[in-house]
Amino acid sequence: MAPPLALIDCNNFYASCEQAFDPAVLGRPLVVLSNNDGCIVARSREARQLGIAMGTPYFQAADQLRRLDVVVRSSNYALYGDMSQRVMAFLGRWVPDLEVYSIDEAFARLPALPPDGLNRWAAELRVAVRQQLGLPIAVGLASSKVLAKLANRLAKRDPARVGVCNLIGDPELDAHLARVPVEDLWGVGRRLSRWCRMRGLSSALDLARADPALIRQGWGVVGLRLQQELRGISCLPLETVATPKQDTCCSRSFGAPVLDRQSLREAVATHVVRGAEKLRRQRQRTARLTVFVRTSPFSSGFYANSATAVLPLATQDTGVLLQAALPLVDHLYRPGCAFRKAGVLLQQLQPEEQLQHHLLQAASPAQLQRRERLMQAVDRLNRRFGAGTLQWAVVGLQPDWCMRRHHLSSGYTTRLGDLPLVQAR
Ligand SMILES: [Mg+2]
Repeated sequence: MAPPLALIDCNNFYASCEQAFDPAVLGRPLVVLSNNDGCIVARSREARQLGIAMGTPYFQAADQLRRLDVVVRSSNYALYGDMSQRVMAFLGRWVPDLEVYSIDEAFARLPALPPDGLNRWAAELRVAVRQQLGLPIAVGLASSKVLAKLANRLAKRDPARVGVCNLIGDPELDAHLARVPVEDLWGVGRRLSRWCRMRGLSSALDLARADPALIRQGWGVVGLRLQQELRGISCLPLETVATPKQDTCCSRSFGAPVLDRQSLREAVATHVVRGAEKLRRQRQRTARLTVFVRTSPFSSGFYANSATAVLPLATQDTGVLLQAALPLVDHLYRPGCAFRKAGVLLQQLQPEEQLQHHLLQAASPAQLQRRERLMQAVDRLNRRFGAGTLQWAVVGLQPDWCMRRHHLSSGYTTRLGDLPLVQAR
């Protein structure tokens, strides 16, 4: 028999991260807002039970939230990103093979255990993650990825399961599949679900039992794989090695429109600094940098433009990237435009260990090494004392284009000064 697979997923991840560090909001309804405090993008279990809808614009829901005494938080990406890394590192120590699938979920291959051994393993993992990281998780167990996804959903929906659902050898499997609409299946997009519906395949069970020839005719090998997975035959391998990124993008909408050239330069510089940090973390260099800007598509005189610089020597040096990016901003800037968004795209990424030298841009190895050590020192200081401890002057001191984040929680895990304090008497 194929080794069992698990889908491990954090429940209400953003909301749970907020609750994990603030005992005062534990057990209280809590919502997290998107960029610029726009919409509700995450809800704690308690907020969900109050019937607060996902995606509601904050300005529409604000009164209701106040009436219901709901805690409101801005997105704290530094906190969620750091907690995600901790969860994945922890899981990596528990399972032989792990595929990090998104910020809060991972597939895992488990050792072959008898069914009750598997359930016990999953229950223990839940307790351990809760104890070590303060986060609730759900575990779906099955013999294929598609079924593990489904099992995870069942584990979350049915409180009687206490966060664990094991579909391996489950005599009720067909009954579960019959209740799942085909569009709710992992890997089924709008086109495939419409195709299924038009042929009378409305549930996961219908799809599992459909004539493979029909599936192949409409969806080729992709459809056949999905069908096999639904039948419990694993076809989608665990991707335990992350494929290196081809490009990386840093961009944000502005909290308030940006009118002057200096602020636009500062905004772009901020993204360049973050992008360069990302490159160094990913151990990559970039050979191509694009800056893009735009005004609001909803106002008259919409303006959007981009400009690209090809770098003679691939780099991860913030200074070099800033020198390439800032002239592009001057080129893109238009007086009188109210800019709402700017960003930086770093392309043609390559591994840092192979550097293609340029005949006409001779850089001495000693010079490059000094710059590398400088970047490492900057990164170390910022990791230790918090992002932005050491900053590039072009970024500016008091950016007024920053995201609106009026309800931001602390950098509990990423800034020394924000460490939670415990008082004992
Ligand atoms: Mg989740």
